[in-house]
This record gives sequence, structure tokens and C-alpha cells, in this order.
Amino acid sequence: MDERTGAAPAQNRAGEDAVQAAYTAFIRHTQACAECRTGGMDCGDAAGLRQTWRDARQAVRA
Ligand SMILES: [Zn+2]
Repeated sequence: MDERTGAAPAQNRAGEDAVQAAYTAFIRHTQACAECRTGGMDCGDAAGLRQTWRDARQAVRA
């Protein structure tokens, strides 16, 4: 029992770190990418980063 209750929060923290890292990567891209800034839409790279972020968030909630 102790192993289960101990493992879940640790897994969650790792997942939240992954969400933060994915979010930071996405935001940094949109701030640095001329296509994202001027177009107001995700370029191909941004779409991939956004999907990675979305997947990480779903992994945390699952
Ligand atoms: Zn971009």
C-alpha cells in the first residue's frame, strides 16, 4: 500500500515537469518564430510542440 501511495505522487510530479517543459518549449517557440508571431497561427513546428504539450497534460490526468 505504501508503495502505491508513494509512487503516484512521484509519477505525477514527473508528469507535471513534462507538461511544464512542453509548455515552455511551445511558448519559447511562438515568441521566437516570426511565422507564429506575425501569422497569429501555429506553424508546423508550433503545432507539433502544442500537440506534445497536450499529450503531456493528458498523461498527467490519466
Ligand atoms: Zn512557429
